[in-house]
Amino acid sequence: MTTTLPAACDLVVAGAVIVTGEGKSIGDGAVAVTGTRIVAIGETRAIDAAYTAARRIDAKGKILMPGLVNVHNHTPLTIVRGMVEDLGFAPAYTPGIPQGHWLSDEETYLFARLGAWELLRMGTTTAVDYYRKPQACAAALAETGLRGFVGGRIHDADTAALADGAWTHDRKLGEATLAESQDMIAAWDGKAEGRIRCFHAPHAPDTCSRDLLRIVADLAAKDGRQVHTHLAQSPMEVERVTAREGKGPAQLLDAVGLLNGDLVAAHCIFLNDAEIDLVGKAHINVAHAPVGNVSAGMIAPIVALEKAGATIAICTDTKTGDMFESMRTALAVARVRGAGYACDARTVFGWATKGGAKAMAMDGEIGVLKPGAKADFILLDAAAPNLRPIVDGIGIVVHSGVGPNVSTSVIDGTVVMENGKPTLFDADAVIAAAQKAADRLWARAGRPGVMTEAV
Ligand SMILES: [Zn+2]
Repeated sequence: MTTTLPAACDLVVAGAVIVTGEGKSIGDGAVAVTGTRIVAIGETRAIDAAYTAARRIDAKGKILMPGLVNVHNHTPLTIVRGMVEDLGFAPAYTPGIPQGHWLSDEETYLFARLGAWELLRMGTTTAVDYYRKPQACAAALAETGLRGFVGGRIHDADTAALADGAWTHDRKLGEATLAESQDMIAAWDGKAEGRIRCFHAPHAPDTCSRDLLRIVADLAAKDGRQVHTHLAQSPMEVERVTAREGKGPAQLLDAVGLLNGDLVAAHCIFLNDAEIDLVGKAHINVAHAPVGNVSAGMIAPIVALEKAGATIAICTDTKTGDMFESMRTALAVARVRGAGYACDARTVFGWATKGGAKAMAMDGEIGVLKPGAKADFILLDAAAPNLRPIVDGIGIVVHSGVGPNVSTSVIDGTVVMENGKPTLFDADAVIAAAQKAADRLWARAGRPGVMTEAV
């Protein structure tokens, strides 16, 4: 008879209800981690018998699930939150508010850090972020411990003029934003132990000329990087592109060579049946932002896009960084568009985890709990009354969970948040610095805030 001695590992998180999203949940489960990867998952008794861990976290009373993959954000836009939602349109198209070209490198960084902390706090473990001054976004994501994909916003329409309704394409602006993006890629791709990766981010078919989109398509074809953009976000975009090009935004992306499996397109709301078919057959990845869209009275044809062949992933975009709210809203709006009960908790949980992983070309690496996958997972505090009773696990998480239920986050094998507190930075300092900068910027915009005197 041979006795197998327990193997050494770095971390065991044990005693949790494990919701994997596939098959049955585990009532008393554990995950073992070595380095950046999961080495085993199973019943606590079996994991404890097989592994001796350098650190053991007792997760009794907690729900353990894959970290959420949030595929489209602009963290510096935390500056406009609470101020633009009732004005009628996306910040880049809205006059008189502090954003984009208004923000210094330092200010961009301070708001990106606030946004990154919010995402981490509510269960996002992989965040996709793009904006002007992308190095500030990359620095903020790296500092929080998130897995981050970053792009620099490329466009040649002058957003300052655009906000006042003027559409001019300025070649110099295109070159400058392209250079900013390329500099960011050179400085940041593969940094933070490989957690930060970079992509090309042309802003949208209406804010980029055809020539600029072609340049980006050529770059992507050469370096194999993904391209992230906004697509069919508004009737104005569709009208503008159709007037300029004689074809819609999806057809324009197709014509310049961007409509393919390496494209992650946010929104995809105003697509007709032929366009849904076109983007589906191209197997693009859709970054679905259900909360932002429905707040503006719009619903994307998500189930039709998935049926047509697109990969669906979820994001919080510039809204509250709560992916649980986004999962639930995605489910609700899909049903409003006729999906019925075929779109259920398991469907939207899949979009927020495996769908995001596939969209980011990390299928099987993130968004799943299995040996060999990256150790990116979160614990929810099931002492919270909204998370009881637990029966099958996935139902309560999707239909009743909220971001603040997340208590602990492990990313790349590192415990980056524990009991609601970040382990790598000072959350109070992040919030105070962002508040101070916001007071300054809104005062400069002629809208001094209620906190201006207090900070
Ligand atoms: Zn966006």
